[in-house]
Amino acid sequence: MNTFSIAIHGGAGTLVKGMMTAELEAQYKSVLQIALNAGYKILEDGKTAVEAVEVAVKLLENSHLFNAGKGSVFTATETHEMDASIMDGKTLNAGGVSLITGIKNPVSLARDVMEKSEHVFLAGDGAMQFAKELNYTLEDASYFYDEFRHNQWLEIKDTDSFQLDHSTKKDSKFGTVGAVACDQDGNIAAATSTGGMTNKKWGRVGDSPMIGAGNYANNKTCAISCTGSGEFFIRGVVAYDVACLMEHKNMSLEDASNEVIHKRILEIGGDGGLIAVDTKGNIAMPFNTEGMYRGQKSSDGIEEVAIYG
Ligand code: ASP
Repeated sequence: MNTFSIAIHGGAGTLVKGMMTAELEAQYKSVLQIALNAGYKILEDGKTAVEAVEVAVKLLENSHLFNAGKGSVFTATETHEMDASIMDGKTLNAGGVSLITGIKNPVSLARDVMEKSEHVFLAGDGAMQFAKELNYTLEDASYFYDEFRHNQWLEIKDTDSFQLDHSTKKDSKFGTVGAVACDQDGNIAAATSTGGMTNKKWGRVGDSPMIGAGNYANNKTCAISCTGSGEFFIRGVVAYDVACLMEHKNMSLEDASNEVIHKRILEIGGDGGLIAVDTKGNIAMPFNTEGMYRGQKSSDGIEEVAIYG
């Protein structure tokens, strides 16, 4: 039996220790642990990596703590527009959705795009029409309302800024969520889900739903889920770049992930992190920010939930 493993993230960023209370830190860790255990259990039961990443991401989407699903940030027009994607490394099938509203679990809609449509990426009204045809129920705005997120938005709503000031004085983080997994058959998958950037406008879409940028899986190399400054992750084609370094330069998962996060993305001005797994169940979780909400668990006995570097 292949070593099976799962890694999850709840976003990277400037997480100032002083601004995090012990109680809040415990809450974050508890949700991460629950999502990690649920995804791991799927793998332990012999189910697929695709199922494991969907289950783990759904649980993170259901928490108001992370910027995805329930906890999604506010757009410039005080709404929520969510993006998500999923990819199966065995078949290279993939699904992505962007600019969707009212959907409790965007990752499941992305999986439905992958499995129940002939397409890879659906956006906006069309994606919502697809959800309607599959009988998704829509949550109203109050489900997604969170006072903390609303205050984040109020602070910058009349500016052209579309993310929180990334200074060391402020607790500024990218709360996107994601999961990567390797199952007992050595198949890998990745899923990513986000509310994007606070105060985003004009139908802004980040890297998270884009196959190759914020999310990628290929049994030849690795499965990757990213978090960070999306505009730079798109330009750097970050998730695919890690896979390319492994495929064409024969780099290990660890070396390729480090090269991209500690060198290549910094060179073009981006910051953030990623989680990665290969078909042997190895995991890498580099980030170039102060912290990244993260967890990993493998049948080799590795188990960790952490926030800071
Ligand atoms: N990468 C996401 C985006 O640009 C943000 C995040 O990681 O939180 O939409």
